[in-house]
Amino acid sequence: MTALRGVGGKTLERLERLGLHTLHDLVFHLPLRYEDRTVIKGINQLRHGDFALIEGYIETVEEQGIRQHSLVCYLNDGNASIGLRFFHYSAAQRERMRTGVLLRCFGEVREAGYGRAGKEMTHPEYREVASGEQGRIEASLTPVYPSTDGLQQRLLRRLIQDALTYYRDDSVAASALTDWLPRRVVDGLAFPALFDAIQTLHSPPPGSDSADSINQAQQRLAFEELLAHHLSLSRFKISRTRRAPLMRPNAVLEQAFSAVLPFHMTAAQQRVIAEIERDLAGEKPMMRLLQGDVGSGKTVVAARAALIAVASGFQVAIMAPTELLAEQHYQTFLRWLTPLGVNVGFLSGRQKASERETVLFALGSGLVNIVLGTHALFQESVIFQRLGLVIIDEQHRFGVHQRLALKEKGGRDGNCPHQLVMTATPIPRTLAMLGYADLDVSVIDELPPGRKPVQTVAMPSSRRGEVVQRIHDWVGQRRQAYWVCTLIEESELLSCQAAEQTAQALTAALPGVRVALIHGRMRAAQKEQAMQDFKSGLYDLLVATTVIEVGVDVPNAGLMVIENPERLGLSQLHQLRGRVGRGEGESFCVLLYQSPLSVTAKQRLGILRATQDGFVIAEKDLELRGPGEFLGVRQTGLMQFRVADLIRDSGLLDDVKTVAEDLLRDEPECVEPLISRWLGQGARYAEV
Ligand code: ADP
Ligand code: MG
Repeated sequence: MTALRGVGGKTLERLERLGLHTLHDLVFHLPLRYEDRTVIKGINQLRHGDFALIEGYIETVEEQGIRQHSLVCYLNDGNASIGLRFFHYSAAQRERMRTGVLLRCFGEVREAGYGRAGKEMTHPEYREVASGEQGRIEASLTPVYPSTDGLQQRLLRRLIQDALTYYRDDSVAASALTDWLPRRVVDGLAFPALFDAIQTLHSPPPGSDSADSINQAQQRLAFEELLAHHLSLSRFKISRTRRAPLMRPNAVLEQAFSAVLPFHMTAAQQRVIAEIERDLAGEKPMMRLLQGDVGSGKTVVAARAALIAVASGFQVAIMAPTELLAEQHYQTFLRWLTPLGVNVGFLSGRQKASERETVLFALGSGLVNIVLGTHALFQESVIFQRLGLVIIDEQHRFGVHQRLALKEKGGRDGNCPHQLVMTATPIPRTLAMLGYADLDVSVIDELPPGRKPVQTVAMPSSRRGEVVQRIHDWVGQRRQAYWVCTLIEESELLSCQAAEQTAQALTAALPGVRVALIHGRMRAAQKEQAMQDFKSGLYDLLVATTVIEVGVDVPNAGLMVIENPERLGLSQLHQLRGRVGRGEGESFCVLLYQSPLSVTAKQRLGILRATQDGFVIAEKDLELRGPGEFLGVRQTGLMQFRVADLIRDSGLLDDVKTVAEDLLRDEPECVEPLISRWLGQGARYAEV
């Protein structure tokens, strides 16, 4: 940086605040938007909301207002006039604004305020123009950069231009901007060269071409950035050279399994099982992501996959994100697989030491075939005799980090276990390709037959009484219901207290209705007991915090009230609502909101009422929130892009994938430089 003219301590400090430490950082600091100062607009052509460059002579100058003075100059370009309004101005400024002075201004056009007719600009950028200079304008669009206090756009523009010149004129320096994309790729996709693209973005040509050139340059850089992300994850796929245990399906056990199941599998479930079978029979470790909307029946697919492993003499570990869900899976697996002679175990961080010892021993000696649990499963003390398959449910609850680390929990024979990762949060294709570039993907795109859509209504909390009455009637029909209390200002304690109070209030308001309570501060055993009792029909109404968000499956519970749904994101609401609509009859979701709703909250609830398609909801969620929060990214820093925009650039992803494969195969020397250019320090996250 210090190679640039006029960069001293203060400026350096401010640049560093923006994360700009080197010239390389500086040229990759791209504009937020552009201003067109290449054309002087006629004042009579200006419309409300335009950002425009104008030039004219000062006609009159007035100071207006009584308590708050403002200075208004009227500027005329020969055809029309416009007011320039300044609320803050110095005496010197006022002194120079005199009738007859030629000014050039850039600003936003508005309707004149204060009861006056005509147009105005408030605090435009302006300068006096010498008469010889009249009409001479900028040659390119003017970039507007992300900046920080005290760092003027004008200075930032000049520094970036100087940095570009430096790279252009100095061949040694230029090597830092090497174009790592092979020529054939750049030509094949009709992209501009790297330097040209960067240059265009900092000073786009004026006129009708500008949008096109900006677009091309942006696509080129977005492509490179997405490619870098993709490559950094794909390295894991390449490292999949360890052998996996060979597994073969067993027809006898499978028939017995079908006989135990109370339903037939859907075509989608069968297709996905076939894909998994194929992977398990191969020599490479399976790395498969199973996507299926809430209620699509992923658990039974997991059970079938586990059965193949067990039939082939291997052990299976199944990990769920919460104790509640792990326990529920444990019960399901016991029911389905014990009749087939499979030994199913349960491991939890909160078990009594003696119970835990017993399970650990059974795992080490191979007595237990399948173990269900939380992340406690992957502690060092857990040793398997022959682990062949790892299944992770509701993957989105774990970070990319954790998932990659789990691969190392292998068998003692040096084999690498197969891995099946399941998620109900439908991951938009765009994100799936990046966050899960190392996984193959299977999708269950069909719900079990007979499901009716959940009827969703939104009501203000002033109608709470009606909702309570509705629960009364519902329970009268021998059906069950959930009442969900949402998070209060990120405080678990307050949320739990709110749930307790709600449970008390509902118990009082609904005599004869048996109310159970589950929240995050209860002991695991208590929670499990309450859940179990609710499932077996001992209670009619379950009041809960969002702990029941994932996986909980009680088909007879067909009514859900969500209090303050405006506090939750769309995907989370969709997950919650997925708890109902699992049985035969009609089902309902009541969104009991606190008015007034913000604009986005209104949009979110509207989307939820309009659709039940998890993919549509996920895409909308992404649009409304941005990808940041989506994958639990806060833990990984994965999805922060500089240029790329997953929605705008999703069309590039197929090419990104092909080119990534190309490079890894034919030009591996380009891979590291690309990754470090775009991910920099962030690349480390992937190295676990
Ligand atoms: P999720 O994909 O959300 O994990 P689950 O595996 O919990 O869904 O399944 C939801 C419910 O649907 C469960 O009660 C399960 O037993 C039932 N189910 C799964 N597959 C079928 C099927 N093919 N036909 C009928 N019911 C099914
Ligand atoms: Mg599930």
